[in-house]
Amino acid sequence: MEIYLDYAATTPVDKDALEAAAPFFSDVFFNPSSAHVGGQRAAKAMENARAQCAAAIGAENNEIVFTSGGTEAINLAMSGIKSGSRVVVSAIEHDSVTGCAERLKSRGVEVVTVVPNRDGIITPEALEKDMTDGTALVCVMTVNNQTGAIQPVKELAEVAHRFGALFFTDAVQAVSCVDISVKNSCADMLAVSGHKFYAPKGVGFLYVKKGVAIKPEIVGGGQEKGLRAGTQNVPAIVAMGRAIEDAVNNRNENTKKIKEAENAFLKCLDFGRPVLVSDKAAGLISVVFDGIKGGRLAVALSMAGVYCSVGSACAAGSDTVPPALVAMCVENADHAVRFSFGKYTTAEQAAQAAKIVNNVVKNLKPNI
Ligand code: PLP
Repeated sequence: MEIYLDYAATTPVDKDALEAAAPFFSDVFFNPSSAHVGGQRAAKAMENARAQCAAAIGAENNEIVFTSGGTEAINLAMSGIKSGSRVVVSAIEHDSVTGCAERLKSRGVEVVTVVPNRDGIITPEALEKDMTDGTALVCVMTVNNQTGAIQPVKELAEVAHRFGALFFTDAVQAVSCVDISVKNSCADMLAVSGHKFYAPKGVGFLYVKKGVAIKPEIVGGGQEKGLRAGTQNVPAIVAMGRAIEDAVNNRNENTKKIKEAENAFLKCLDFGRPVLVSDKAAGLISVVFDGIKGGRLAVALSMAGVYCSVGSACAAGSDTVPPALVAMCVENADHAVRFSFGKYTTAEQAAQAAKIVNNVVKNLKPNI
């Protein structure tokens, strides 16, 4: 028996998305940059997907740059910062953002870290304290990948703009659970990854508001208006277009189901301290099991058939302690595991998983 509670790491590809993509692997295999009729058929499907992605976030079609996923979209967003300038990055970001920030530092950019409150939220007041005129960029994610904390991106973007900075948000964990319309948030850039909402891995996009200048990371051909060279992954892009439409249209219904599953899990859990935040996306929670290292518990749970994560999937296998929990000063943050629920998790499965967790914890810590 396997119970998958790791939807924040990745999701299975939806049947509809798979079916939409299928012809573009075979019959319509053409290069979307080719001028012939075949190429134009592939290009038309890709542009349709661009329109679906744009509509999902309230953007214009020409503001969407397809990438190989969230990490590349993030790299692209942070690529144009010149040495000598200043950026403010939150302390709860994914490795892909902190990695880019480290690289910027090594190139002579001043990087300032803004920390969350105990509730896991980067408040506009905290950001304001770290701002100066001449700050080039502010990076704060939309939904945290460890706690599910929903950040006040609209208010944070307002602060950034008041100081003349651009505002970039990593919305990779947000698409399935919150409205990420850029019309509401006024974000200047926003990163999305397909495999977090039932599209394939290795595809995503960066929204770049009209007029915002970024520097390509990958150069070569003129694809994506010269912002991202390389032949586009048409089948994956078509699947992502379909999946993002479904994610947005069915968000409320899915969220209700996911909340039920998460509640059933927490209700049946006898041990552990869930890391609670004031405004949380459904279906993503870290739980601290004092006295048991997260890595050890996750392995034991995997052997018992419950799949979960320690830290982000990208940091799995390392001894990295989830940065968001550290930044929130969560005690024993290295004793936390993350459970994440998706639209296919039933409340029964979730309750069953909690019972397995109870047994595994009891075995690892008999005197609990
Ligand atoms: N940002 C967040 C918040 C994530 O959770 C992830 C993946 O786990 C990424 C970025 C990276 O996305 P990708 O796996 O598409 O490179």
